[in-house]
Amino acid sequence: MRKSSLPRAMMAILLVVMLLAGCLAGACAEGAKDENEPAVAEESAPEGVEDDARDEDGEDDAGDDAGQAPEDAPVLAAPIVPTDGAIYTYEDMEQDLFELQKRYPELLQVRSLGTSCDGREIYEAMLGDPEAEKHILIQASIHAREHMNTLVAMRQLEFTLQYYDTADFHDVAYSELFGDYCFHVLPMTNPDGVTISQLGPEAIRSPELRAVIEECHQLDGGGKDYWQRWKANGRGVDLNRNFDSGWQEYKGTGHISSDCYKGEAPASEPEVQAILRVAEEYPPICTISYHSTGGCVYWDYGCQGALFQADRALAEAASSLTGYKMTSSVTSAQDAAGCSDYFVLERGIPSVTIENGHAACPLPPEEFSDIWLANVDLWPTLAELFSDRPVPSEYATESSGYVIGQIYRAGVNEFLTLRESPSTSGKALRRLGVDAEMELLEIVNDEFCRVRVVETGEVGYVMTKYLY
Ligand SMILES: [Zn+2]
Repeated sequence: MRKSSLPRAMMAILLVVMLLAGCLAGACAEGAKDENEPAVAEESAPEGVEDDARDEDGEDDAGDDAGQAPEDAPVLAAPIVPTDGAIYTYEDMEQDLFELQKRYPELLQVRSLGTSCDGREIYEAMLGDPEAEKHILIQASIHAREHMNTLVAMRQLEFTLQYYDTADFHDVAYSELFGDYCFHVLPMTNPDGVTISQLGPEAIRSPELRAVIEECHQLDGGGKDYWQRWKANGRGVDLNRNFDSGWQEYKGTGHISSDCYKGEAPASEPEVQAILRVAEEYPPICTISYHSTGGCVYWDYGCQGALFQADRALAEAASSLTGYKMTSSVTSAQDAAGCSDYFVLERGIPSVTIENGHAACPLPPEEFSDIWLANVDLWPTLAELFSDRPVPSEYATESSGYVIGQIYRAGVNEFLTLRESPSTSGKALRRLGVDAEMELLEIVNDEFCRVRVVETGEVGYVMTKYLY
């Protein structure tokens, strides 16, 4: 059986159940979402939801799983990482990372990128060859109370490792699909903050830091579940407001706090420095930030041209897979100085923020299986998206906004190949140069369009999403 079809099948069933319950992203996010997150802008529901369900119905091997509880899938043999969504601490993660490294020494390297203010390691799991051609950066739990995302990332890690040699995705073997990549995963970017949210202020070891966070409590005026709802790091800095992108203009709380204090300078915090270190050493082709809550994919940070197109393609892929609504960060007035803002606007790297879950944070354990199922294929989806291999059109997401007869340029040269036919088996004619101009002749399907290359007059097919 094709392993990768199992989670997709279960996800399709789950989506149907969610639809029946009237509980898709837009429907229930508003009431339940974190009040500190900005309102989700009105946009149409992601196109991929129904398509995914329809695709899976057509799978010849998907029917076996119908009727099983979603919790039964995806199946991991003798898993190291727990599956119940219960509190998953820094120590749990640390132990599991090293267990995974022991079990999969060929595929996984674990290292510390630095130490938090309270002496916890900021771990990076490197899946794949660090010498690989392409690098993808994924970080979770930069906001403390959103710590269920650590478990999501750890499960993704174990799932990919366990199935690396046996599963396939859209008929391509995992080993082949992931072969060109190294995934750099920070499953718990903010270990001190997560510890505060999970275990309370007494779990902070340094008396000086305990005094600092008690001061935050006073300045913020406390409130119900104050510690559980902690977002900042161990010294009251909101790490997702500490990046050097719109930092100067961002006001925030103006004092150390559980939430929205930007710090004394951009990248002043070791946790932010850890992310930047990965990006320096292994420049990523895309980044994913896992947050909660609201069931949406934030994208569109105010860039234009090829970068806008590439970010849209990334957001479409994530939205289509998860069923979460694509939400413009600009039009929903998202705060600045965040991780995704920084990578898109300052580094020109396509990035999105995925807001997992629908309840207020910390998310209840019951949400875990839905979130896991929504995200189980995210990594192969990313690998496919940035692959040189054309995606079969039956799986492609819909792009819009192209006009026949207009001149477009080659947006991401690395991926833009002129083909003799709009199919995966179509012979590649040649790679197109940076900014090569093309006249759009026809949109063939969700994925390919027929173009005339202005300079040479050649006619062929290219992937629409790489035009701008
Ligand atoms: Zn967040």
